[in-house]
Amino acid sequence: MAIVLLMGLVGWAGQTAWQRLSQLRKNLGVMPHESGHGSNGSESGTLEPNETRLDDFVANSQEAVEELQHLLMILVVLVLVLGFTATSLVYRGKMGPLRAQLVESRAIIGRQEKLAALGTLAAGVAHEIRNPLTAINVRLHGLKKNLTPDSSEHEDATVIGQEIQRLDRIVGDVLQFARPAEPRLVAVTTESLFHRVRDLLGAQLEKASIRLDVSASPDQWIRIDPDQFDQVLINLVQNAAESIGQDGTITLRTRSGPVSPGKSPLRGFKSKGGDAAQVVILEVTDTGAGIPRAVQDRLFDPFFTTKETGTGLGLSIAARIVEKHGGALEYQTKVDHGTTFAIVLPGIERVTDEIQT
Ligand code: ADP
Repeated sequence: MAIVLLMGLVGWAGQTAWQRLSQLRKNLGVMPHESGHGSNGSESGTLEPNETRLDDFVANSQEAVEELQHLLMILVVLVLVLGFTATSLVYRGKMGPLRAQLVESRAIIGRQEKLAALGTLAAGVAHEIRNPLTAINVRLHGLKKNLTPDSSEHEDATVIGQEIQRLDRIVGDVLQFARPAEPRLVAVTTESLFHRVRDLLGAQLEKASIRLDVSASPDQWIRIDPDQFDQVLINLVQNAAESIGQDGTITLRTRSGPVSPGKSPLRGFKSKGGDAAQVVILEVTDTGAGIPRAVQDRLFDPFFTTKETGTGLGLSIAARIVEKHGGALEYQTKVDHGTTFAIVLPGIERVTDEIQT
């Protein structure tokens, strides 16, 4: 809008200057010429009107030149303003987003560096804890053998054993978070992956009256590390079950198709190249409590948990594993309705000569 207005003003100034120049040229065309001949009687009679016309002409020309100067100055100012506005618009359009991207990248690098430092520290501590923990566990087993079953001492030893297992799980999580292993990729069908998770967790879910619905095609292939993906899905399904508590449904399903660059099936998934990417999406949907805004803001922060016995590492580890597979972990949630976590993975062509499971 501002540019159009400025261009209008420049046009007006240019047009007026052009008119003034034409008038000046016309004036020059009608400038009275001094006549060197004629009768003596008529000479004094024609000189006077000629002088008056000459004065008029000079006055007119001076006025026109002055106006032209003003117009030129206005034109220069307008061109400068126009140039400045156009430059700032280009800057805002091109440089603004680049600057925002730079700030975001710096924040990500800062976060990665912090995570790396935290990871190294956590890995060191976890490693030191694991050795004495193993020794305690071995001794406990020895002691337990000598205790009479159903005695209160045996019961104490059982509780101690359970707590040692819990500590071992936490230490394992911390180590995995701190030093994620490189995925060993093989081609699997989404159906086989889902069925394995159902075999592992089905009984536990049944106890809480939670139904696990699985819908996947035997022809849909993905290239993943199956052990790592078992862990991702177990984390997501366990979170879903904890959010439901008692009575509800968890659904595992897949979708696939092209995703345009910059467009997300849920949030922010981008294709690596410029073309539409083929993706396979594995979804874990629950009919649980949903995730409140305040929790969403810290959802993927390591060690953030709302549970008494949680480690706050489940989602961080899951997201890390998925990212190592070139994918993204996304979610959609509605408080009191439930949550869907979506693992967005690059799709693969037909599977021919690979190890298939
Ligand atoms: P943890 O399960 O040990 O708390 P996570 O990283 O797996 O750690 O999860 C972090 C937090 O995210 C959980 O404490 C919980 O508040 C929230 N959360 C994760 N998944 C869900 C879900 N499906 N529904 C509701 N809240 C969830």
